[in-house]
This record gives sequence, structure tokens and C-alpha cells, in this order.
Amino acid sequence: MGKTLILGGSTLATALASEMAAAGMPAVLSYAGRTESPLAQPVPTRTGGFGGVDGLVTFLNENSITAIVDATHPFAAQMSAHAIEAASIADANLLALEPAPWTPAPGDKWICVADIDAAVTALDTGAQRIFLAIGRLNLASFASRSQHHYLLRLVDRPKNPLPLPNTTVIIERGPFTLENDIALMQTHGIDLIVAKNAGGNGARAKIDAARSLKLPVIMVERPVIAERPVVSTVSETMHWLVHEADLGV
Ligand code: NAP
Repeated sequence: MGKTLILGGSTLATALASEMAAAGMPAVLSYAGRTESPLAQPVPTRTGGFGGVDGLVTFLNENSITAIVDATHPFAAQMSAHAIEAASIADANLLALEPAPWTPAPGDKWICVADIDAAVTALDTGAQRIFLAIGRLNLASFASRSQHHYLLRLVDRPKNPLPLPNTTVIIERGPFTLENDIALMQTHGIDLIVAKNAGGNGARAKIDAARSLKLPVIMVERPVIAERPVVSTVSETMHWLVHEADLGV
């Protein structure tokens, strides 16, 4: 039987790994290596970049991978583009597993922007207390908006000084609850939230909390990724693996 490469970095990737292990379907879960202590997994894992498209093609061939499930975070656009190209070259099946984007509900005060740079532009205002809930990858972009105080919630304690001068950092791993995020925003006197439209439940509490507290959200839309088959649930992925990628046991 061929093996599946799960490109990880999301809670859906972890959930898929569990389902595949339970079903006895061979898989390897790949991490970029951005998190210091990823959670233990029921399938073999590997960590670090592949070395571009060529490196990924080599990995697929050397490990008899016949299917790739791209379950990276929806903002990991480079990895997703590489997966599309490498799957085509190595003749592997490819499916993207990602949650549908969040959509505004009544009471939401979203300011939708195309990318991180546009979020920075939107913060050309007087000083505010901002919950910058975008992880740690894009923090440097906000250095030009140093008039604000930023609340950051990170998985790992930063080893190096942050590129933003005026921050409060909390170290916490999701999923988060609505009660927790309402209390967090009240405690820190938050005026505005900046979020990436990740979709799914693990990170959505802050969006629901913002609605409850009538706070505006600068919502960064997802990067555009070339067309590929996409599903949003683990059960759809399992169905695809068995019926489309021919990996049933
Ligand atoms: P990216 O810009 O799309 O990828 C940059 C490079 O990192 C890729 O070209 C690849 O290196 C390597 N890489 C990324 N994901 C990988 C994986 N699952 N396994 C092995 N190598 C991987 O990605 P990013 O935005 O930096 O995100 C990095 C990781 O963090 C991803 O796994 C993503 O799921 C997770 N994450 C990202 C965000 C976000 O907002 N971007 C949020 C939460 C989690 P090579 O070219 O050398 O193969």
C-alpha cells in the first residue's frame, strides 16, 4: 500500500493522523519545525523544510508516498504551492484539508483586508490596545505602528527580543474558549483585534469574544492558492484516501 504525507501545522492535520492510525493506514506527518514542542502523534513524524519543490519530490519518491494531504494552516501559501507542483511532478494524489473561512455574523464589526501589509496600513491611527492574534511569523511588519500596545498570544516563549516595543506576551496553546477570550480582552483593555481568517473552531473564540464585546476586528483574508481539490473535514479526507487515492486497507 502507498503511504500518505500529511503536511501539518493545523489541528485538522493532527485529527487526520489519529484517524489514519486507527484505520491502519500508513502516513507520515510533516512539521515545518516552527513550534518547539509539538504534541505527540500516533503516526511517524518528520520536521523541517524539504528544500523546495525538488526536495519534496525527492522525499515523495524515496518514501513511496502516493498521496499528499496538505493540512497546513491556510496562510502557509508557499508550502501549499510547493505541494501542488511536487505532486504533479511525482504523480502523487493531492488533497487540501482546511476549514472553511469564517464569515461575519450579525453584530460582527469586521474590517476585511487582503493581507498583512493592508492590516498594518489600517493601523495608521492613534494609540490603541490591540490583540494581535496572528501568531509570531508576521510580527515585524507591525513595527512601523509602534504607537500601539500589542497583546500577543504565542505557543512558545520568544527566545529573541520581539520586533515590537510595546507588548504583553502570554504563552498559551489553543483551542481557546469564548469565556477565556472575553476575560482576556477585558483584562487587557483591548480596543481592537487583528486576526487571520484561519477558519475552524480552535482559534475562533477570539472572533466570538470580539462580537460579544462589540470590538472591531481587522480580518486578514487568506492568500490565494492555485486550484486544487479541497475538503474541510477529516471524514471527507478519509473518504478521498480510500476512494480517490486508492489507499483503503
Ligand atoms: P510557508 O511560508 O508556506 O512555508 C515556508 C517553508 O517552510 C516551505 O517552503 C517549507 O520549506 C517549510 N514548510 C512549511 N510547512 C511545512 C511542513 N508542514 N512540513 C515541512 N516543511 C514545511 O509556511 P509558514 O506560513 O511559514 O508556516 C510554517 C508552518 O507553520 C506550516 O506548517 C503551517 O501549517 C504552520 N502555521 C502557519 C501559520 C501562518 O499563519 N502562516 C499559522 C499557524 C501554523 P521547504 O521549501 O524547504 O520545503
